[in-house]
Amino acid sequence: MSAIKDFFGSLLLTELLKGMSLTGKYFFKRKITLQYPYEKTPASPRFRGLHALRRYPNGEERCIACKLCEAVCPALAITIESEERDDGTRRTSRYDIDLTKCIFCGFCEESCPVDSIVETHIHEYHGEKRGDLYFTKDMLLAVGDKYESEIAARREADARYR
Ligand code: SF4
Ligand code: SF4
Repeated sequence: MSAIKDFFGSLLLTELLKGMSLTGKYFFKRKITLQYPYEKTPASPRFRGLHALRRYPNGEERCIACKLCEAVCPALAITIESEERDDGTRRTSRYDIDLTKCIFCGFCEESCPVDSIVETHIHEYHGEKRGDLYFTKDMLLAVGDKYESEIAARREADARYR
């Protein structure tokens, strides 16, 4: 029975007509295709993109080298070394993230007690060779410095849900 149904279906081009009717249904509706990268969809404040290390408004690094982020990272993507400064405070002497290992789970961000390591809204970055995606402390701080106002605004927008 189904073979007969299939035979007449293909003979009468019913699949084609179904497809054409669906096309016709949407032909005059408002278009939802965006002309990326000139047009972009809104992104959630929780979007997990490129990492950044933040500073306090006085320029001091937030990171206290507690290494919680390194311990919690399931991909073992973070490498931290620390040292004591002359004023007795502890800071990182090395903070690297290998983004080729990172799975963008956000655990590092969640574990940080001082909001130092964050995942920003930035997703338009790339590397042309493996080493390009190995982000050092200076590179992470530079991302934080450049986008601090946007990072702060997004964290503020999400604060009541955290
Ligand atoms: S987002 Fe996840 S995988 Fe990536 S560095 Fe942070 S904890 Fe590790
Ligand atoms: S980024 Fe945060 S969690 Fe990671 S070592 Fe620094 S203070 Fe600790």
